Amino acid sequence: MRGDMAVHRAQKARDDMEQKPMDMVKKVCLLGDPGVGKTSLVRRFVTDQFDDKYLSTIGAKVTKKAKIIEVPDRQLRINLILMIWDVAGNQDYPQFYDMYLKGMEGVLTVADLSRPKTFEGLKASVSHVERKTEGAPVVFLLNKADLVELASVDLKEIKSLADDKGVPFLVTSAKTGMNVEKAFECISEMIISDWAKKKFGVA
Ligand code: GDP
Ligand code: MG
Repeated sequence: MRGDMAVHRAQKARDDMEQKPMDMVKKVCLLGDPGVGKTSLVRRFVTDQFDDKYLSTIGAKVTKKAKIIEVPDRQLRINLILMIWDVAGNQDYPQFYDMYLKGMEGVLTVADLSRPKTFEGLKASVSHVERKTEGAPVVFLLNKADLVELASVDLKEIKSLADDKGVPFLVTSAKTGMNVEKAFECISEMIISDWAKKKFGVA
């Protein structure tokens, strides 16, 4: 009886170990023109709040948030700790900008659906990521969906850029919370899938 218990306990400890998620820290950056909603998206994701006031971000703000990511086909559970870098678009001090973005492992690049001019920023971010990283995953976020009639916005160029670069895009609203969780989930899964491919080879 006693022996059975010990065997059972040992098995349970092994199972627990297999279940225990592995910690991993990754750096995600938000890119995009001023005022598109980068800070608001982070705030919505991390604290589930929204604020109408606009305070431009100075330098960079780093926020930490952990998320459990499952990779069922590899039997992995990862406690992904995202270090979210909300970086001010710093045209005046490009040397700082580059320093903040160094080592980014995933990028959310944001545009404002109510200001089509900001769509240009998506293209600029993609080429920046291509130049500065070894293929870090990117997701396009078309934010402020609550302000526009989606059918009236011309998304042709964005769609073709996204297709061309193999970048997924999501329509979001930091105000209503629409797709905000999903945006961070999407970039997290892409980061983990890239990591797993490098570590274990093709799935
Ligand atoms: P950032 O410069 O890219 O960090 O932009 P902020 O997050 O500071 O947002 C700029 C302004 O847009 C602020 O007044 C926000 O309240 C507002 N804003 C951000 N996201 C949304 C959104 O999804 N919907 C609406 N209606 N306003 C938003
Ligand atoms: Mg900001």
